[in-house]
Amino acid sequence: MSPSDSIVNENAFAGSGLAPAGTAREREFENVLRPRNFDEFVGQRRVVDNLSIALQAARGRNETLEHVLLSGPPGLGKTSLAKILGSELGANVQTTSGPALERPRDLVGILTQLGPSDVLFIDEIHRTPASVEEYLYTAMEDFTVDFTLDQGPNARVLPLSLAQFTLIGATTREGLLSAPFRNRFGILERLTPYPTEDLVTILMRSAAILGVPIAPDAAETIASRSRGTPRIANRLLRRARDLAQVEGHATIELELAGEALSRIGIDANGLEDVDRRVLRCLASNGANPVGLKTIAAAVGESEDTIEEVFEPHLLRIGFLQKTARGRQITPRGRVALGLPASPESDAASSAQHDLFA
Ligand code: ADP
Repeated sequence: MSPSDSIVNENAFAGSGLAPAGTAREREFENVLRPRNFDEFVGQRRVVDNLSIALQAARGRNETLEHVLLSGPPGLGKTSLAKILGSELGANVQTTSGPALERPRDLVGILTQLGPSDVLFIDEIHRTPASVEEYLYTAMEDFTVDFTLDQGPNARVLPLSLAQFTLIGATTREGLLSAPFRNRFGILERLTPYPTEDLVTILMRSAAILGVPIAPDAAETIASRSRGTPRIANRLLRRARDLAQVEGHATIELELAGEALSRIGIDANGLEDVDRRVLRCLASNGANPVGLKTIAAAVGESEDTIEEVFEPHLLRIGFLQKTARGRQITPRGRVALGLPASPESDAASSAQHDLFA
């Protein structure tokens, strides 16, 4: 793992509503709200159906479930699904992450501890170092690993046989996985952002678990500004819950939800400060496309973070477009910033301004 990668993981989302569950309190909160079975897992019907079928079929044949790759943006439920699969299989689930597997011996240590039908969950699997990835290939395919003892002339290869296990990988960047790696997964499922009505259901469930009543229209407002992401919806709910408590409201009503959102800088389009800075950077270049590096430097975030976290939402809501030469703001994006829809009218109005100045 390069130092810049660790910065992406730990700091890049800091202060943003988009941060992965970083602190112990965040993780605790996520675990309380995590759906425990397929019935509690809202939405993503196609993915859930496919996984249930694979699960039932494997059970019926008394076989180990094939390796599963879950891909999609952060906070959409990949970890939750992995845990649900583990519990449906009645399996022990070992959890690690790509960046944590720094050396082959880290992986071999975990693999050799796995029992028959256990699940190994590797989060951020696209960040697994190439040297470790190679060991995963034979482990996934033949349930063996060749472990090299010592170095130089004393080196000996020790073939180790492993229990038949299921690897569940989660990735936010499926495209970064090499083809041989991807091909070793029998089941590949992609999670997509949730429609507002699913997020409303998730929020209602979370509010009930947290014991904080929420009005349906307040849930709708929070849901519609959550970038299609349950993790963000739950975070915003937590902010609204704080405000309700401090202001002495028994229920999260619409007005209070709106106030909570605007206090943390989330606007009616669900945009936060970094999104607006990205858009302003693009708008300042008129109709000229802008490269990722320039955007990252202008807004003070890493290229990875812009590409993985901020850009997908801006693309999805049609505020940004990608061309072969770079990123551009769309007319709708300009309007959201309070600018005229076309950069020409901008130029025209400033020319007019100059004329009369
Ligand atoms: P990922 O691994 O994709 O980053 P997680 O599985 O950790 O996402 O989900 C983050 C949080 O969002 C979970 O703790 C859970 O509370 C909530 N969540 C995600 N997907 C769903 C869902 N389909 N139904 C209900 N809650 C969900």
